[in-house]
Amino acid sequence: MKVAIIGGGAAGFFLALCLKEMDKSVQVSVFEKSDKVLTKLKMSGGGRCNCTNTFEYVKDLSQVYPRGHRTVKKLFNVFSPKDVYNWFERHGVKLKTEDGGRVFPVTDDSHTIINMFLHYAVKYGIDIRLNSRIDAFAQLDGYDFIAVTTGGMNSSGSFLNNRQDELSDSEPLPIIKPVPSLFAFRIDDNRLKSLAGLTIENVILTVPKTKYKTCGPVLITHNGISGPAVLKLSSYAAVLLNESGYKSKLHVNWVSGKDNEVVAELRDMVVTNSGKEIKNRNPFNLPQRFWEYMLLKIMPNRTDIRYKDVTDKEINRLVNILCNDELMICGRDTNKDEFVTCGGVALDAVDVNTMQLKADRRLCFAGEVLDIDGITGGYNFQAAWTTAFTAAKGILAIKS
Ligand SMILES: Cc1cc2nc3c(=O)[nH]c(=O)nc-3n(C[C@H](O)[C@H](O)[C@H](O)COP(=O)(O)OP(=O)(O)OC[C@H]3O[C@@H](n4cnc5c(N)ncnc54)[C@H](O)[C@@H]3O)c2cc1C
Repeated sequence: MKVAIIGGGAAGFFLALCLKEMDKSVQVSVFEKSDKVLTKLKMSGGGRCNCTNTFEYVKDLSQVYPRGHRTVKKLFNVFSPKDVYNWFERHGVKLKTEDGGRVFPVTDDSHTIINMFLHYAVKYGIDIRLNSRIDAFAQLDGYDFIAVTTGGMNSSGSFLNNRQDELSDSEPLPIIKPVPSLFAFRIDDNRLKSLAGLTIENVILTVPKTKYKTCGPVLITHNGISGPAVLKLSSYAAVLLNESGYKSKLHVNWVSGKDNEVVAELRDMVVTNSGKEIKNRNPFNLPQRFWEYMLLKIMPNRTDIRYKDVTDKEINRLVNILCNDELMICGRDTNKDEFVTCGGVALDAVDVNTMQLKADRRLCFAGEVLDIDGITGGYNFQAAWTTAFTAAKGILAIKS
């Protein structure tokens, strides 16, 4: 059996290795359009490759896979995060776990994983063709089976969009429109941007009048805001924000508190710190410069006043801005170049037991080309490994 894999990235390599480990006799060729393989893996996790997650803090898979969580849940019965962990260690890559269950090689270097992949690819005689862009399945006529692992929209946008006519004998490839996920928000507020570098630890973000809500740290950047709560929201609301042209109101609760609790906290300060200047005492553990920025917004000429001189009206306005602030998202920004694609090959067109296209069993998919994407934390690689393993099993099931 001859198998062609289109795309020499994480999913393509893993699929190739799994195939050879399951059945040595299969001939595997990997077609990579560029002159290098595993490029994204190399730069992943800031060069450290956050290759999976222990999932010990994940209560609900939909929180970490906004698209594809049901499929991922099923596939974890076939190849789970624990299986991935063991697979890497068995292949000589020692792993360690960091906060949030994020898993990295102990070397803190993605080359450790790349070198392992390349070592086994050579050992198993996998045929790797660089500078081999596949634009039509007809280019792969001599192959019994084709696996598409072309990644997300950056690397395969045209592939995802143009393949419709190439599938002879089958329906057009069903694609959910690919759009970016995991990005920072541009906010046109120079005063906020002047605080670039500050992190506000415990913020609730909501896209008004939607179900999209996250909480966690927010990092102020030179262009707006980023950090875990923002990236998660960009993932949950990826389609909505794309449709709005990345222009949207954003509701911000900077202190993650209810209005009445925050009022009580401030009133308590008026009693216990009555003689202290309000700007020098904030009860919410906010960075000092951020607290001053908040005060400037509501009482521009009175930030020097003492707690005892703060009026009820000012307390209410302060509560309002702390708990119900509104920012305008005016665009999308990169997050240290990391992003994934939301959308891709529709999951209902794929048999999840094999990752094969229901309409054409000669074709299967793995990795980011599928309509599965996760938030940051190792979830995207985990999806790539799991779908690739399942695809390998599916190909061999057809062979036998
Ligand atoms: C900067 C950055 C950091 C990241 N860090 C992490 C992280 O730490 N943890 C995590 O879980 N996820 C991370 N991700 C996401 C993760 O890298 C991807 O989800 C993962 O690489 C997807 O694997 P893939 O094999 O599906 O696609 P890719 O790794 O993108 O591989 C696809 C390959 O197919 C090739 N290709 C495309 N079209 C064709 C064609 N027509 N013919 C031939 N070849 C083709 C491409 O050149 C590419 O080599 C990161 C992403 C980025 C951009």
